[in-house]
Amino acid sequence: MSDTLALEAVAREAARRRTFAIIAHPDAGKTTLTEKLLLKGGAIQLAGAVRAKGNARRTRSDWMKIEQDRGISVATSVMTFERGGVIFNLLDTPGHEDFSEDTYRTLTAVDAAVMVLDAAKGIESQTRKLFEVCRLRDIPIVTFVNKMDREARDPFELIDEIEQTLALDAAPVAWPIGRASTFWGTYDILAKRLMPVDATEEEGIAVSGADDPRIAELVGEERATQLSEDILLAEAGLKSFDLAAFREGTLTPVYFGSALRDFGVGHLLDGMSRYAPPPGARASDARAVEPEEGKLTGFVFKVQANMDPNHRDRVAFVRLCSGRLTKGMRLRQVRTGKQVPVNAPLFFFAKERQVAEEAWPGDVVGIANHGTLRIGDTLTEGEDINFRGVPSFAPEILRHVRLEDPMLAKKLRTALDQLAEEGVVQIFRPLDGSAPIVGVVGELQLDVLASRLKVEYTVPAGFDATRWSTMRWISSPSGDRAAINRWADRNRSDTAEDHDGEYVALFGSDWRRKRAEEEYPELRFDAVREQS
Ligand code: GDP
Repeated sequence: MSDTLALEAVAREAARRRTFAIIAHPDAGKTTLTEKLLLKGGAIQLAGAVRAKGNARRTRSDWMKIEQDRGISVATSVMTFERGGVIFNLLDTPGHEDFSEDTYRTLTAVDAAVMVLDAAKGIESQTRKLFEVCRLRDIPIVTFVNKMDREARDPFELIDEIEQTLALDAAPVAWPIGRASTFWGTYDILAKRLMPVDATEEEGIAVSGADDPRIAELVGEERATQLSEDILLAEAGLKSFDLAAFREGTLTPVYFGSALRDFGVGHLLDGMSRYAPPPGARASDARAVEPEEGKLTGFVFKVQANMDPNHRDRVAFVRLCSGRLTKGMRLRQVRTGKQVPVNAPLFFFAKERQVAEEAWPGDVVGIANHGTLRIGDTLTEGEDINFRGVPSFAPEILRHVRLEDPMLAKKLRTALDQLAEEGVVQIFRPLDGSAPIVGVVGELQLDVLASRLKVEYTVPAGFDATRWSTMRWISSPSGDRAAINRWADRNRSDTAEDHDGEYVALFGSDWRRKRAEEEYPELRFDAVREQS
């Protein structure tokens, strides 16, 4: 391929990608919606895998079994499907109530998100938390109000709640006709058409507007009157859809439907094709990288070990930002300067891995490796740039690991190192040489850690409390390394090194942390660290 043709191909392929995640409070219908999206995209075999996960996620112990069953959990890490020439990469965010860092990091790799709300519940605690993460990067959000086939809250009230609790403009693009048992379907505000629930196609019935007299013949007098009144009110009092505001992350279009009844899902997907952004420019420490550049760049946002019991390997999930990936390429791992061969980049379909011949900006490929690739790593064709923004979060739970068999200490160390690289746990080694500390963001992560240590590494272990309750990464805004060392000398038993050798301060209470901030104004104590 000539250079010009190659560049054109990159631009064309990038432009037809939509890489997104679904954010939702547990039970809002994320799994059901995912299943229906995949069916629409023709990725039918996937539906079973997703359903298995949905059903099994009901209890803590079941969830752990699923986590151990790496086959299933990886099948749903990345789901690629195509519809109408658009390629969708749906990245799964672990939907458990206990928040994991994986979820945050996955959201650094998407260009848009679908926010699913339960029509009877509106914005719930987890929706809000996930939304805040999206807001950090101004990720455009499409809202899907689910479960319209059941008793639902008033649409005006729901829209108002989105605007008030999230400080986000909300513009309805569909409007429900009838409610609950009399739910008939929706009115497509932008295209002026009726979309009946039971229609096999979501083509819709064109009308001249919400006050078209034909509507009453189709949906009945009562529902037609309510619709025309609602739309009048909406036009007067609600925001209308604005593509630029959506792309900037300040306005969300709102769809109404029912994932269970497969209604409104096609409309949502059409909206994603039409309005959600293709991969855009991404900031690095040196410059912004445009997707249509000829040279490949990407970054690792997730590492998963031992996914398949038959291959005891690790897979790094790489989000491509520019250029074209081809099988057999060698990429530069910027952190180490090493060349990483990409002989068999993986695409994930259902439970199977498939070797990709090529991949484009927006795609996520898996690169099998033996621990070389880490979360936050940038891969390029040679250029020394680092993508920013894959975060580490200060763990809220700090524990000592208690070994049942002290002879396994060395094995434990290896296991913890590997799990730290995978992002399952963070490890801190105190400067005074005392026992290492493991840190996790949520309680459930401890259970997962214990179970993986036992099952995958045959190292049974428990956890003991430490005298610390919080930690912060220490840095000096003016680049004064001596100031950091001064801190470390004075606070040896409350300072540790993280996995990358960065200093962290350990605090017994928030009060102590605040004092340290006052006493050392020349230092910064950060709760979030971007990996580089
Ligand atoms: P998740 O926890 O967000 O993945 O939610 P699920 O997709 O597992 O759905 C939670 C429950 O809500 C399940 O019992 C679903 O069958 C049900 N559900 C999902 N979507 C709908 C819907 O549109 N209407 C109704 N009535 N129930 C739904």
